[in-house]
Amino acid sequence: MSESLPHASAPITQDVVTIPRKDAVGDGRVNLVGLTRDGMREALAAAGTPENQLKMRVNQVWQWVYHWGVRDFDVMTNLSKDFRRLLAETFVIELPEVVTREISADGTRKYLVRIAGGHEVETVYIPESDRGTLCISSQVGCTLTCSFCHTGTQKLVRNLTAGEIVGQIMLARDDLGEWPEPGKGTGDAGPRLLSNVVLMGMGEPLYNFEAVRDAMRIAMDGEGIALSRRRITLSTSGVVPEIARAATEIGCLLAVSFHATTDAVRDKLVPINKRWNIETLLDTLRDYPRLSNSERITFEYVMLKGVNDSDADARRLVQLISGIPAKINLIPFNEWPGAPYERSDWDRIQAFADIVHKAGYASPIRTPRGEDIMAACGQLKSATERARKSRAQIAAEAGLGG
Ligand code: SAH
Ligand code: SF4
Repeated sequence: MSESLPHASAPITQDVVTIPRKDAVGDGRVNLVGLTRDGMREALAAAGTPENQLKMRVNQVWQWVYHWGVRDFDVMTNLSKDFRRLLAETFVIELPEVVTREISADGTRKYLVRIAGGHEVETVYIPESDRGTLCISSQVGCTLTCSFCHTGTQKLVRNLTAGEIVGQIMLARDDLGEWPEPGKGTGDAGPRLLSNVVLMGMGEPLYNFEAVRDAMRIAMDGEGIALSRRRITLSTSGVVPEIARAATEIGCLLAVSFHATTDAVRDKLVPINKRWNIETLLDTLRDYPRLSNSERITFEYVMLKGVNDSDADARRLVQLISGIPAKINLIPFNEWPGAPYERSDWDRIQAFADIVHKAGYASPIRTPRGEDIMAACGQLKSATERARKSRAQIAAEAGLGG
């Protein structure tokens, strides 16, 4: 089902489309969304906030923006009218625009999100019984060219800003109606609809490190969105020099797109392997700060028929990672138009999972979600991006001939 937001049934989505973005763009005002606390402090100081009020004003504005989710300075009733006018003249509170929202039969929601410059990324919300996970994008396209990934067929257009990254969390909360209402309690009761964030959408987050870090710091701030660092997982294809920073500068959990057990196969599936091979990657993961049984690394492993799914692969996998506190997430391959692979058969995936499990590792098989709306892992790609590679080109790069 596809619906464009002006006709969406949930009233909260109306907020998204009524924000006067066009007026704000290019008029010199600064977007508060995406500023870290330090950034907001600097911005409010530059706007003329007296030094002795700065700390309090940052706290107040921060809470309005990130705790209450308001977009209108007039609502900030604990600020004087004059200060609110000053804010409105200098700043905007602006999210990327939701162009369409599709809802899968299984409840998964996919948002097509337009960012400045008219580029588009996708954000996916996956409800589960005990949690709700938002899969967010960090780049428009990707510089890397993993041969099984739809995003990898799209050239990198640009990095997202911190505001565009945290903005995806905020627009999903808009759509889910999950901001507390001023004057009506804090909204802290009960499980959260949006309880977890995975940086597993479009792009390689470690190639946009600073913006991802700032956005996650904003999302983790206890006086705002307040997501625990353990509920944020960053997935990387293996950008070795940046991996430790995810722990030291963000503190989130780590997932690694492993996908193969020999360099020959991984070179084809995840070409960054030619730069940092399996051994180098595993050495880096063994040294990952914070690594412990309670904060295990997730090894993502896409199941591709006849490519990486044999019993021998499963046995090599557990040997390779021995000693690393880990969980192996088996991802049945999600097909996309022109993909040069097929999903492994179900009994093959089960047999692979059993070997991994018997070796002492949790080996959940990720249930594909939102496939009917192309929202599943690796299916994301900007609809506006027409420069799709040909089937032959994809097959050639995957080393499959053609
Ligand atoms: N660039 C990062 C994060 C985005 S991809 C990374 O590569 O880790 C998120 C996960 O989806 C990765 O593990 C990726 O390998 C996997 N993926 C990509 N394409 C897929 C597909 N077609 N089917 C299943 N999983 C896929
Ligand atoms: Fe980029 Fe990740 Fe897709 Fe590889 S799997 S092309 S790193 S988004």
